[in-house]
Amino acid sequence: MIMDGAIARYDWNQEPHDHLKCKECDDMIDVHLLEDDFQETVLKKYQFSVDDVEMTILGTCHKHIK
Ligand SMILES: [Zn+2]
Repeated sequence: MIMDGAIARYDWNQEPHDHLKCKECDDMIDVHLLEDDFQETVLKKYQFSVDDVEMTILGTCHKHIK
């Protein structure tokens, strides 16, 4: 893994790294949403070997939801 300041690349052995990104305050919340067998599912279903996953879900965080 290469650590370059705030930018970190994760290989698959790390936890899949998903984000919730708030459009109101730009907060980035780390979450783990994908199933652990996600890589295997993609390989079986689409014949596609996954190296890395970066998922960002855009929305509004709890601070702005009334
Ligand atoms: Zn927010």
